[in-house]
Amino acid sequence: GNRPSPDYMTGLNPEQREAVETLDGPVLVLAGAGTGKTRVLTTRIAHLLETGRAYPSQILAVTFTNKAAREMKERIGVLVGGAVEGMPWLGTFHSIGVKLLRRHSELVGLRSDFTILDTDDVVRLIKQLIQAEGLDDKRWPAKQFAGMIDGWKNKGLLPPDIPEGDARAFANGKGRELYAAYQARLRTLNACDFGDLLLHPIALFRKAPDLLKEYHQRFRYILVDEYQDTNTAQYMWLRLLAQRPKDVPQNVCCVGDDDQSIYGWRGAEVENILRFDKDFPGAKVIKLERNYRSTEHILGAAGHLIAHNEGRLGKTLFTDRVDPEDEKVIVHAAWDSEEEARAVGEEIERLQRGDGRSDAKKHALNDMAILVRASFQMREFEDRFVTLGLNYRVIGGPRFYERLEIRDAMAYFRMVCQPADDLAFERIVNTPKRGLGDTTIRYLHDSARARDVPMLQAASEMIETDELKPKARKALFDVVQNFRNWQARLETVPHTELAEQILEESGYTDMWKNDKTAEAPGRLENLKELIRSMEQFESMRGFLEHVSLVMDAETNENLDAVSIMTLHSAKGLEFETVFLPGWEEGLFPHQRALDEGGRSGLEEERRLAYVGITRAKRRCHIWFVSNRRIHGLWQSTMPSRFLDELPPSHVDVAASESSSFGGYGGRGGYGQSRFDKADAFAGNSYSTPGWKRAQANKTDATRDNWGSRSGHAVERIGYGESGPRGRTI
Ligand code: ATP
Ligand code: MG
Repeated sequence: GNRPSPDYMTGLNPEQREAVETLDGPVLVLAGAGTGKTRVLTTRIAHLLETGRAYPSQILAVTFTNKAAREMKERIGVLVGGAVEGMPWLGTFHSIGVKLLRRHSELVGLRSDFTILDTDDVVRLIKQLIQAEGLDDKRWPAKQFAGMIDGWKNKGLLPPDIPEGDARAFANGKGRELYAAYQARLRTLNACDFGDLLLHPIALFRKAPDLLKEYHQRFRYILVDEYQDTNTAQYMWLRLLAQRPKDVPQNVCCVGDDDQSIYGWRGAEVENILRFDKDFPGAKVIKLERNYRSTEHILGAAGHLIAHNEGRLGKTLFTDRVDPEDEKVIVHAAWDSEEEARAVGEEIERLQRGDGRSDAKKHALNDMAILVRASFQMREFEDRFVTLGLNYRVIGGPRFYERLEIRDAMAYFRMVCQPADDLAFERIVNTPKRGLGDTTIRYLHDSARARDVPMLQAASEMIETDELKPKARKALFDVVQNFRNWQARLETVPHTELAEQILEESGYTDMWKNDKTAEAPGRLENLKELIRSMEQFESMRGFLEHVSLVMDAETNENLDAVSIMTLHSAKGLEFETVFLPGWEEGLFPHQRALDEGGRSGLEEERRLAYVGITRAKRRCHIWFVSNRRIHGLWQSTMPSRFLDELPPSHVDVAASESSSFGGYGGRGGYGQSRFDKADAFAGNSYSTPGWKRAQANKTDATRDNWGSRSGHAVERIGYGESGPRGRTI
């Protein structure tokens, strides 16, 4: 139109603008990486607020991570020029689920102060149930069952709904009963797991149609980012809220990219995005094709790679940025992961000092990220960076809050705030050692169950009797007394002080002070850091909720630091420079996907590679090693097939960069051909496995080939878990 466009619209291309301005009715933005989908969503919210279409509290906006939610909130603030007053319903499906549940918990049989269990708690609880059934928990591992339950919950299935085959597959056909017993137990504990944060809202909306109607009215506008990775439960949840009666407008806007669907292994259904216009008839589908993020080399490499997938819609992506200065995607070879980490560290320092090749600019560490396929890969980089004194942060990986001492401390705090939290109680009742043996604890546990009261209460009743031996009774008496004292101080003593007192008076801090192992000092530091991290919260409860929610939390946000994270948690992010280590068969693509045999696992791996490359704005360095040490054993590895799938026109091969190849290559410059790498391989002084020699010889013949995989069995390697360790909520 000829209206003057508001500031926040400036620079949007016509399609983006259309997506922002089409406020009425369902809208789907289906577009490739870096085309501004998230920016469209953010601008759309700004537009809703600025035009007075909605109050902040009338907008339901779903992001994939908490970090993304925070960033979106900040961006909106910038766009509308000033802090946004609340956006109470901007968050992940899980965090919005918590909020709904706190308000309406009674509808699903919980009290509003329910606890959110983490994976560790869940496994312990299931183990108890398996044992209580008289089943062998070695034969029927709790962890496995926890995974099955999670899978069912992601599909929106309650015990009666689970397929017969599934129910029969576990515990001699007791799968369904166990699942039901687990749900019942959660209710008794006044607790829920992550899956429940999705399932319970569905249940309560179904149970209370009037309530649902209220929320239809309240949420005038619904927006969802990363729609391709919604799972069935999230989809059901969203549909309940978004499919309204005829008289209420369906103002729902989802954005996503089928090529970036990478959570299939966790139940995400890319079909959700493909059937959007069936679910929401009359939906306007908008495509964005111009990429604003990356150089043409990065886009070219990513586009060529993802074209190897068959199951895709196929989208065009182009960039106007064609700069002869831009470097190609660079592939590096290293001898092993230690050398890989060392070389990446050197490259980072080089960029930091400002002697990057194409520009003399000094690069901030914040602009660099290392994206790994499996979280075990992180340690090597962490070790190296500690040695170098290079700041780094781990995002979404094994985190601070997951460390043993932090979990213990948190269990104390949980008990003080939520005395019915038996799992927390069991975790710390004899930590530090108080002479409360397994028998006593089991006895306590059983009598609590028999009386249907929390264990702490059972304990406080028990110490009045002579059911226990004097020593155990005294120990238990002290525990009960302590908790009474701490609970009494909850409202009077500032929570950080109280936290410190709890750790002191319980003997927990002393336990580590007296511990002579090498880890003890670090653990004590972590405990201090824990107390520090509580300062920014108003209460211990607020802090506990934060910890249970924020699985993608990061410490020292303000430090200039390299980010280390899994490819899975890098979704939606962007960095000037991206390092992608570990491109080897069996690691990436991951062995599990290869074992599946089918196309879908491999294609999901390839999408993950696409996500990885497209995080880079200017520089993308890919690494593979020839040897990897897994569980203490050296394995020779083969370069990832994805390397073969990169187009030579956008890719350079770096010469080997360190002396571990036996003195060949030396500190080779960049921009050398794949030849040089081949020389480095051929000349290395280590015993060279046959395939590598073959590969070396081949490389000079076919520039676009890192060696044939035929005839070389890939050793089966038991890589650890992949993807983010915790759950994103
Ligand atoms: P992904 O699929 O990776 O989540 P996306 O489609 O959500 O990507 P954004 O993150 O929204 O893309 O945008 C990518 C980059 O391009 C951001 O830095 C964004 O600010 C920038 N950008 C988007 N649109 C424009 C525009 N019209 N003009 C200038 N820059 C833009
Ligand atoms: Mg995005």
